[in-house]
Amino acid sequence: GHRLVEHAAAASVRDASARPDPAPTIEPVRHADYRAGGGYALLRRCLDGRLTPDAVIAEIEKAGLRGLGGAGFPTARKWSLVRAAEGPKLMAVNADEGEPGTFKDRWFLERDPHRMLEGALVAAWVVGAEAVYIYLRDEYPEIHAVLHDEIAALAAAGLTPHTEVHLRRGAGAYICGEESAMIESIEGKRGLPRHRPPYVAQRGLFDRPTLVNNVETLWWIRDIVENGGDWFAALGKPGHPGLRSYSVSGRVKNPGVKMVAAGTTARELIEQHCGGMLEGHAFKGYLPGGASGGILPASMADLPLDFGQLEKHGCFVGSHAVVILSDRDDMKDVALNLLRFFEDESCGQCTPCRTGTEKAVALMAGGSWDRPLLEELTAVMRDASICGLGQAAGNPILSVMKFFPEDLR
Ligand code: SF4
Repeated sequence: GHRLVEHAAAASVRDASARPDPAPTIEPVRHADYRAGGGYALLRRCLDGRLTPDAVIAEIEKAGLRGLGGAGFPTARKWSLVRAAEGPKLMAVNADEGEPGTFKDRWFLERDPHRMLEGALVAAWVVGAEAVYIYLRDEYPEIHAVLHDEIAALAAAGLTPHTEVHLRRGAGAYICGEESAMIESIEGKRGLPRHRPPYVAQRGLFDRPTLVNNVETLWWIRDIVENGGDWFAALGKPGHPGLRSYSVSGRVKNPGVKMVAAGTTARELIEQHCGGMLEGHAFKGYLPGGASGGILPASMADLPLDFGQLEKHGCFVGSHAVVILSDRDDMKDVALNLLRFFEDESCGQCTPCRTGTEKAVALMAGGSWDRPLLEELTAVMRDASICGLGQAAGNPILSVMKFFPEDLR
């Protein structure tokens, strides 16, 4: 099985519940309490015309908010694009959190689901979306029950005059977290990623211009507009605006969701936020961005974990899932484990990915890697796959060759 993935999942249960496994009961802020704390005042201001869509977008732009599902696309620009598209328009909330090692959206939704819902309703108002489809990972049944009730409370309170809110369940496919596959799934079809262009902002759900945002992105909207974009931007490190929630798992003492300044490094996460390495483990390397973001050595633990910072090393931060590895982890095994995951989760639509991941596993499982052949294979997968799964699946292989040659001997 996928030991790394299981390890990450176990870490998320430990942190997100702080209660005995395996039956956590969650206690989110409910509708009445959220409103008592000032919730939905922002949405009211929007609906009453006391705020303009342009003013909301301007604060988000100042905040430097980016898509925190992993792609990092500037949120203000995305909202402006969809707003400018010819209607009728729709919106989808990606809550299909499936990237191995990522458990932050769960953390947000278990605690304060209305903050995401208010962000979604404001977004729908800004872009003019007639309906919002929330696509929730089916492995979060407690959250499904909460969202079901809280969405009903919203409608009863008259907070959705401008849009309809639908809650949809995923079915356990990793690829349905890819936005166009998610859209296919919401439409009731098999979750196969679409070719682009057209982009979903132009032709998405039911062929309409569609705004797709991740849970965490929307979770920040209320705070940003209420406190101002400059306030949010200043919470980050210089050149890295805002806060981020890093899902940290692996060989650290205190794994969990760490809400810290954007641009925080792996070394800071381990030493300042996770209580250091586990007893008897020496820091050897880390996955900066879940399964697809490659593997970096401990000697490169001082890089800012932000969008656009790791690409020159063949890595990326994606959804900010940081998995810490130690001297007890064989990087060849880690990479093989990840490739087995991609092999299982490939949707099978295109040959470079469907066959490439399978061939890669076969080549790696033998133990001694045929480096030229693996390099050729990863190049074909990167250049010719339809979506990010196949394009990035070779990253762990290339990382091991580049940064951990001793593990290949
Ligand atoms: Fe499907 Fe893989 Fe092709 Fe993506 S790259 S469309 S997951 S086969």
